[in-house]
Amino acid sequence: MVFKCAVVNCRNTSKEAILHSFPKDPELFNMWVEAIQRKDITMSRRVTSKVCDLHFSDKMKFATNRNRTNIRANAFPDLRLPGNNYMHIHTYSV
Ligand SMILES: [Zn+2]
Repeated sequence: MVFKCAVVNCRNTSKEAILHSFPKDPELFNMWVEAIQRKDITMSRRVTSKVCDLHFSDKMKFATNRNRTNIRANAFPDLRLPGNNYMHIHTYSV
């Protein structure tokens, strides 16, 4: 089954990118939902909702073997996001 990234305007699927599942922890789950502005995603859709690797900065990741990385247990999306988060980053880079 091919999954699509849940971030609005991102077209990555599990064919071309690494997709990460939403966390089980309800508090962290809500942080993800807030970060990507997808309040329609609820716990019941956790299994089929995923966010691609592009939305996690290096500080959210750790190195596994064979030069691969995975996201930390407490990681949340913080890159290339819609709305305020994106504007915030954009403003600071000017
Ligand atoms: Zn994405």
